[in-house]
Amino acid sequence: MASDFEAQLRSVSLRVTRPRLAVLAALRDNPHVDTETVIALVRADHPKVSHQAIYDVLRALTDAGLVRRIQPAGAIARYESRVGDNHHHVVCRGCGAIADVDCVVGHAPCLTPSNDHGYVVDEAEVVYWGTCPDCTCP
Ligand SMILES: [Zn+2]
Ligand SMILES: [Zn+2]
Repeated sequence: MASDFEAQLRSVSLRVTRPRLAVLAALRDNPHVDTETVIALVRADHPKVSHQAIYDVLRALTDAGLVRRIQPAGAIARYESRVGDNHHHVVCRGCGAIADVDCVVGHAPCLTPSNDHGYVVDEAEVVYWGTCPDCTCP
């Protein structure tokens, strides 16, 4: 398990460090969490890792493409380690819960715009908004 993360870090030429491994492990087990939650998860196991170190790790991992940052309009940024598959998200307007939505058809870009304005489109990102089951039940 840890060695998978080490291989991931090496594949993007990032040094293997304890905070980086801890953040990757936290995101694997807890997809779509915000920065504060990542900090709490990492510090539960590694109390000596500073907030700033975790911010830095999230930025480095996002820049390197190992972590995806999701920021629905009007919501705080969330992070996940499921990257590279161009999946989409459904967001609850009530509680902010986020779930993965796999591509509906074909490969990236999985949506074809009715007018691409001459752009070469290589990715589509869709956010579905709605109400989650927990918020639907009275
Ligand atoms: Zn909800
Ligand atoms: Zn996701």
